[in-house]
Amino acid sequence: MPYKLAIASGKGGTGKTSISANLFHQFKQAGREVHLVDCDVEEPNALLFQHAACLESEKGIEQLIPAIDTDRCTFCRKCAEYCEYNAIVVIPPVKFAQVNASLCHSCGACLVACTYGAISERPEPIGAVHHYKLGQLAHLTEGRLRIGSAMQTLLIRELKKAISPLGEVILYDAPPGTSCPVVETIADADYVILVTEPTRFGVNDLKLMVALVRKLNLPFGVVINKKGLGGSEVYSYLEKEHIDLLAEIPFSREFASGYARGNFLETLPVEVAGGYAGLLEVVQHKIKEHEGDHRTQR
Ligand code: SF4
Ligand code: SF4
Repeated sequence: MPYKLAIASGKGGTGKTSISANLFHQFKQAGREVHLVDCDVEEPNALLFQHAACLESEKGIEQLIPAIDTDRCTFCRKCAEYCEYNAIVVIPPVKFAQVNASLCHSCGACLVACTYGAISERPEPIGAVHHYKLGQLAHLTEGRLRIGSAMQTLLIRELKKAISPLGEVILYDAPPGTSCPVVETIADADYVILVTEPTRFGVNDLKLMVALVRKLNLPFGVVINKKGLGGSEVYSYLEKEHIDLLAEIPFSREFASGYARGNFLETLPVEVAGGYAGLLEVVQHKIKEHEGDHRTQR
């Protein structure tokens, strides 16, 4: 079984993708079979840092949307009552029944509800999954949401189905925030790295993420990115909450400009490289512990 490591943060711009891309790069350099999965389906950008990626496959993802045949419909409203997402409008006096595709979550409840055979399903494209190879052992798969679709969670679920079973180590680059797409991304992770920056905003969003991973009962630790930018509030918080500090990546203007050019992996400033190397060491230790636990359970 691959080791699944999710890299997440409560807000965008903390450095989640640079940390995912760097871990991916380091595992690749170390000759391990690694798979980077860009679950930030609204704006996937992990590929931008991989200059030798070769597209292996592309798969369109569709959602099944119910369609109501008003010739068969009795306008009983049972389907609308079953729909938890308020995606169905039925107005009996004017014989109107319609599904709002943008609210539908394809749960299938209305199909069960309708005993008059008035509901069928039609496919609606919601995005695509692209799989890239980088040499023999490295894979990158991204989900790309269709503009206008609100089906992030569904696309992430399909993306995760598509990656199996490639890679000894799987890195999930999560979308920012604490909502359903993040839960879908991290729920099956063996470990979650929460990335934060030492600013007040960073600490505030970190607290929300900590509440989420604790609710999901997932093991986790924190990486402080852009060390040196803010204050000490984050350190007091981690200490008070007994949260592991896995690594600190110093803020560096040189790094920021390499990142903006899309080639930071090749030109890491020494102090930043040291932070990433420390993180890799911690992660490898976690993987060994996990493998050890599995051997003991067998
Ligand atoms: S349950 Fe069937 S018959 Fe009743 S309103 Fe919905 S589509 Fe029409
Ligand atoms: S499939 Fe589910 S979410 Fe979609 S309209 Fe039917 S009941 Fe509502």
